[in-house]
Amino acid sequence: MSSQTPLVAGLVEHECPRCHRPVELPLGQLCKTCLTTIDKRARRTARLVAALSSLAMGLYVFIPVPPDERVRIVGMVGVLMWYVLSNMVVRRAMSLWQR
Ligand SMILES: [Zn+2]
Repeated sequence: MSSQTPLVAGLVEHECPRCHRPVELPLGQLCKTCLTTIDKRARRTARLVAALSSLAMGLYVFIPVPPDERVRIVGMVGVLMWYVLSNMVVRRAMSLWQR
């Protein structure tokens, strides 16, 4: 018997709070399967939201823009940055919200 067992025993969960599978976890943690599922769904949603909002932003930026090369490049960089940032924000929000 480990000397730490009595101290840690009260802080261990014996089933995952989300899927109720029997596992040993630190209190308040989710099992690996749940974390993977949550992460996968969050990534998929983030990609979709980022792509659609970037498309909308691209149309909004490019339709009224004059055919000037530099203006188009700046607009393109803006749309790309929007894609990356909205992807990160949505993924983070989704993975926190699903717990
Ligand atoms: Zn679980």
